[in-house]
Amino acid sequence: MCGIVGYIGDRSNVLNVLMDGLRRLEYRGYDSAGVAGIVNGEIDVYKEPGKVANLDQLVHIENDVVFQKVGIAHTRWATHGPPNQMNAHPHFDQDKEFCAVHNGIIENYATLKNQLQKKGHIFHTQTDSEVIPVLVKEFYDGDLFSAVTAALRQIVGTYGIALVSKHEPNKIIVARKGSPIVIGVGTDETVIASDVAAVVKHTNNVIYLDDGDVAEVSVDNIEIRNLDAVPVSRKVDKVDWDIASAEKGGFEHFMLKEIYEQPDSIKNAIRGRLNFEQGTAILSGLNMTPGELTEIERVIITACGTSMHAGMVAEYYFEDLAHILTDVDQAAEFRYRNPIVNNKCLVIPISQSGETADTLAALREAHMKGAKVSGLVNAVGSTIAREAGRGVYLHAGPEISVASTKAFTCQVTVLLMMALKFARSHRMPMPVGKTIANEIQKIPDYVQQVIERSGEIEKIAKKWCKCHDWFFIGRSYLYPTALEGALKLKEISYLHAEGYNAAELKHGPIALLTEDVPVVALANDIDGKDKVLSNMQECKARKAPLIATATEGDQEVADLTDDIIWIPKCHPLVSPVPTAVALQLLSYYVAKELGCSIDQPRNLAKSVTVE
Ligand code: GLU
Repeated sequence: MCGIVGYIGDRSNVLNVLMDGLRRLEYRGYDSAGVAGIVNGEIDVYKEPGKVANLDQLVHIENDVVFQKVGIAHTRWATHGPPNQMNAHPHFDQDKEFCAVHNGIIENYATLKNQLQKKGHIFHTQTDSEVIPVLVKEFYDGDLFSAVTAALRQIVGTYGIALVSKHEPNKIIVARKGSPIVIGVGTDETVIASDVAAVVKHTNNVIYLDDGDVAEVSVDNIEIRNLDAVPVSRKVDKVDWDIASAEKGGFEHFMLKEIYEQPDSIKNAIRGRLNFEQGTAILSGLNMTPGELTEIERVIITACGTSMHAGMVAEYYFEDLAHILTDVDQAAEFRYRNPIVNNKCLVIPISQSGETADTLAALREAHMKGAKVSGLVNAVGSTIAREAGRGVYLHAGPEISVASTKAFTCQVTVLLMMALKFARSHRMPMPVGKTIANEIQKIPDYVQQVIERSGEIEKIAKKWCKCHDWFFIGRSYLYPTALEGALKLKEISYLHAEGYNAAELKHGPIALLTEDVPVVALANDIDGKDKVLSNMQECKARKAPLIATATEGDQEVADLTDDIIWIPKCHPLVSPVPTAVALQLLSYYVAKELGCSIDQPRNLAKSVTVE
């Protein structure tokens, strides 16, 4: 779930490479950190609860540690056992011969632990992960690669692992099943990690392991086999982003940087994908002929969290524009409720990281039921991107902040292009398609105009940040945007926020309104605005403070509210994008005012690779 880094090579500062890698993975959210390396033929391990900075203090200031040639490191997001020093990774066997870091969950760890204890092995932690080095010790017979493979064959669950041994100090063994591992192939050195963010400083040449791969990595050789010990070959890919995109570049937080990047990230998501003459979109990754598109009778979008909100916006797009029956399914539910899916159905799994466990499981279920699948993913080469077979990349660039911002706006934009493509191959006339294509092209400009209002939004945030409960309401395209606004606020400010369809408020939640409960009403000029205005009146009558987003110059809304965030005049279809950006800024400034840990909110992880 969290971060793995490993290094093998001739540098004298192995530890610095590992610590730098851990810092680059900090964005994923974690609760403790640790490193291990070989010193004079023995394994040396250091771990600390809390931030990577605590570990840095321990290794550099207190112990002046120097690792020789090889080391592994980890940031842990606790699943089994509290986040304390003992449970932090790396873990090792009782004689410190084998040492491993692990991401994921070993579902049968209790059984394995029991069996190993009966054989005399001693355990020290409450984690599931500790069984890995102990199992390897049990199987070790002079060949580390085989011992790790044998150990992994016993494991039920998910893992990304890196393991070192004092018996074979010139190698790291890595493996993956359900939790990513990339191998950065440098010159006379190799950096392994769970995420390219920790690798790109050293090399852009990477190998993405597939599920079931086990690799033996030494300074000048990488050998990959499957769990049956059969050699497999994996190609070396080029990562197309550089180190600058994984750094803050003068911004106080990654989240603010990523909010400000949106005009560019959306431009990248659109680039080359609009055909203005035909009024349609060109999405070659979709890989479907117009004939195949018209055969699709139903679209099912499946995703979690923010991605699901983007999917909910797209439900309107597909139904309004393409007249295709569309449903949005929570990915966690999809495979457990025996969904009705067939080959006339297009399933679109959406995931920023492309590693979201629930979404991946939904994708596999859709494949199994014979649906056509097209992924919508940001991380190139990720599992969902590869397994979907066909799909569209967001090209939003790396998203480091745990709270998603630019991925959401790019998802909505790309889904609108998908819906446009479907619509044009169904019944939408060319002039209507042209109008929409032109509007999509203007989204970056609309977003830029909202960003220029950051100062005004910050003032509003300062005014209301002491309120503990918030509501976000909207209708139509802006209903999912309200859900996303509420999610963003709770994720980073820890305030209680709920998103509702504006009409739904009066069916219960209105009971909670008082003068201390702000209602953020998305009252832009779209169909249903009049109804939202009536809902706002109902809130006002209960003395709730009103903050609204509204189309620039709309005096009617301004007269009704305490505070207003102006959104540029735009086509209703694209209004969720600039409006979401306004809500991202509102959440950001509230969280900043409250002194919250914005880029790494408590309890959250960036890519959720456990079910
Ligand atoms: N399940 C393991 C633990 O609780 C791994 C957690 C992780 O993925 O960071 O230690």
